[in-house]
Amino acid sequence: MKIGFLLLSLLLIGGCATTTTANIAGKNRSQLLIVPVAEVNRMSLDYFAKQNDDARSKHRLVTSGPEFVRVEAIMRRLVPHSAALRKDAIDWPWELVLIDAPEVNAHVMAGGKVTVYTGLIRQLKLNDDEIAVVMGHEMAHALREHTREKISEQQLAGAVVSLGGAALGAGKTTMQIAGLAQQLALELPFSRKMESEADVFGLELAARAGYDPQAALGLWDKMSAQGGAGIPQFLSTHPAPKNRKQELAALMPKVMPLYQAANRR
Ligand SMILES: [Zn+2]
Repeated sequence: MKIGFLLLSLLLIGGCATTTTANIAGKNRSQLLIVPVAEVNRMSLDYFAKQNDDARSKHRLVTSGPEFVRVEAIMRRLVPHSAALRKDAIDWPWELVLIDAPEVNAHVMAGGKVTVYTGLIRQLKLNDDEIAVVMGHEMAHALREHTREKISEQQLAGAVVSLGGAALGAGKTTMQIAGLAQQLALELPFSRKMESEADVFGLELAARAGYDPQAALGLWDKMSAQGGAGIPQFLSTHPAPKNRKQELAALMPKVMPLYQAANRR
């Protein structure tokens, strides 16, 4: 009874909200967001700083040069268009780091800290439109606060564990396990639902910035072709079911007019 009440309170206080305005496909799912933004951003910044220190110590952190300038310019062109999806995002401290490593991968931390591996660009020989699609996808995870949602879900599960533990007199150890679970939540992959959402919002973002959204289709072909030599990391951390390309293709009639309008300006 008591536990049920506390869980209900958590849900009501944090609430099920949504972080963005509706996208072009009209989707706007309600989210479990019980962990404060500031806490998620602090955890994410810590993680980002540790990752960058580690890469720097191995001389793999790229913060200048033509490759960095190219990818950062694409991100900078996308940022102003994030306002169409949520107004505050335009003022976020968006930041790109490029890590010189063969991994075919990219990821994003809460608040707009994007990491791209040179392997993604070099091995797939990405053109600017394809980089914009990847960048849009990563930025969309941040706009939708998927990290905060993931940690909220984890914390709710942890609350169940610790409350259950408290009831059984398990006490402190169980609470510590719940804390650890929250830390590990940062490294857990996003859900299939979140990946689909990042595809939709990301494609809209790229199209609004004047990048050809049809590049998404060629990009997934390149990713699948890579699959022959073991699944590329981008696909293993961003699960790609067979229908993902079809889902992207179905969005074209909605995003192409945004792209055409951007290019008329
Ligand atoms: Zn993703």
